[in-house]
Amino acid sequence: MKQLRKRLFISKRTGAGERDKMIKLAIENECNTLVFSLDDSYFKNRSKNTKYIKLIKNYGLFIEAGGRNFPLLMPKKLFFFNRELFRMERGRRRASHHFCPTNPKTTAIIAENAAVWIERVIEGVTQPRVFHLLPDEGRETTWCACPACRAFSPAEQYLIAVNTTADVLAKYDHEAMLAYVDFDTEPEAEGISPRKNVMVCK
Ligand SMILES: [Zn+2]
Repeated sequence: MKQLRKRLFISKRTGAGERDKMIKLAIENECNTLVFSLDDSYFKNRSKNTKYIKLIKNYGLFIEAGGRNFPLLMPKKLFFFNRELFRMERGRRRASHHFCPTNPKTTAIIAENAAVWIERVIEGVTQPRVFHLLPDEGRETTWCACPACRAFSPAEQYLIAVNTTADVLAKYDHEAMLAYVDFDTEPEAEGISPRKNVMVCK
């Protein structure tokens, strides 16, 4: 049976000293899994002799990757020349929070960036691997209102991007899972269903 994972998300802004304390506290609370952002320094410096990395090794903690990482997969800098990739609100494209997921160019960019980030971190993630892809904090339901996206609920739009990333992840590790947040209050949506390697994060 798979061991149950009790998770703690570590913000990439958390300094090394603070990480020591957080990890000790996590262990005291029977937490056995740490989740680092795709761009966290942990994945770059895993062999470093830092105290917090030693703690992770000593306690045999599981490592997972991801979090609120849409800005990495769909960089805001693309907005200046490619507004149509971004979210529409009251007839205008906006660079803030998410993007236009029904535009095939958007999902192509997400897939491309997902491949880059997954490749960078995958060796540092404990098997069976779990990745996370969460919507922007506090703006979970802020998605695109362009004519094409209007047919999809915010939860479905999010799932389009999650599925795109899950397909990329499957190419690197067919046993890896991608965790997402199911905030859909509607009964099971007919249009978009999660891929087999997508799970709800608890
Ligand atoms: Zn749209």
